[in-house]
Amino acid sequence: VMKIGVLALQGAVAEHIRSLEAAGAEAVAVKRVEQLDELEGLVIPGGESTTIGKLMRNYGFIDAVRQFAGQGKPLFGTCAGLIVLAEEIEGQEEAHLRLMDMTVARNAFGRQRESFETDLDVKGIDEPIRAVFIRAPLIKKVGKDVDVLSTYNDEIVTARQGHLLAASYHPELTDDYRLHAYFVDMVKEAAASKA
Ligand code: GLN
Repeated sequence: VMKIGVLALQGAVAEHIRSLEAAGAEAVAVKRVEQLDELEGLVIPGGESTTIGKLMRNYGFIDAVRQFAGQGKPLFGTCAGLIVLAEEIEGQEEAHLRLMDMTVARNAFGRQRESFETDLDVKGIDEPIRAVFIRAPLIKKVGKDVDVLSTYNDEIVTARQGHLLAASYHPELTDDYRLHAYFVDMVKEAAASKA
């Protein structure tokens, strides 16, 4: 069983733990950098990216998570977590982890569509998944190593770059845990290739 952490500085932590466990992993809330040593993968949840980024800086998580990813261990960022993974954030000087080769736009759906649900086709998952968007970001530009896994109205909302996975929406807010299962498979593959 893979042990996967959910960064628990701010945001939707308990829901991710529940979905990871439903997908067959052991899941723990991560509050201290030392906990990363015992993990095979990490989820960065939704919430508020500026707050999460600031807390990550304060507690030493920026360098620690970069090292974690540098060991080939998978990361999964959802909503604010996707923003935290990005190389570049539109209209902002500073990005956070700068691990995924993409430019993202925050709150990209405007006021009329602050939150909504839809079914999304995701490459690698057979049937559409249920996705909840809440003040969601969009991926505006990706580098050549990034694989686009789904779009919504021609805009990129799910992407993967090797062992990094990012979704604009909240897969943890539904009973559909197939995207978590997809991530658990990424973690298993990464752990197997190290062994
Ligand atoms: N709007 C938030 C941000 O820019 C993300 C929203 C979310 O995670 N639900 O950080």
